[in-house]
Amino acid sequence: MSDCLFCRFVAREIEPAVVAETDLSLAFKDINPQAPTHVLVVPKRHVPNAGALAAYPEELADVIDLARTVAEQEGLDSGYRLVFNTGADAGQTVFHVHCHLLGGRQLSWPPG
Ligand code: C5P
Repeated sequence: MSDCLFCRFVAREIEPAVVAETDLSLAFKDINPQAPTHVLVVPKRHVPNAGALAAYPEELADVIDLARTVAEQEGLDSGYRLVFNTGADAGQTVFHVHCHLLGGRQLSWPPG
């Protein structure tokens, strides 16, 4: 059994609230939403962070494309934000790369 939480989601050892899936990626609702839409999109391959995901361009493109698909499903026509927290100082707490899809409200800039 993996000790990576998101690998366990991908394997469905723990069942997340899945909203979309491809052969390469899984999209599920964040358990602690920070916006009306807050979905995490992960590659099924275990990769620790966004920098490391650059070595897998097919997975990287699939994650972004699935985020776009979910944004369309959610009707986020006026905009949304994609975020990869990378490293502890950026607030990364789960070291299986995940793209936060945030939308459904006016998002401020800069983030905290
Ligand atoms: O970018 P960061 O690593 O902090 O994001 C991890 C995200 O995983 C958090 O937004 C957190 O709410 C989410 N999470 C989750 N389900 C869990 C544990 C964490 O959706 N069981």
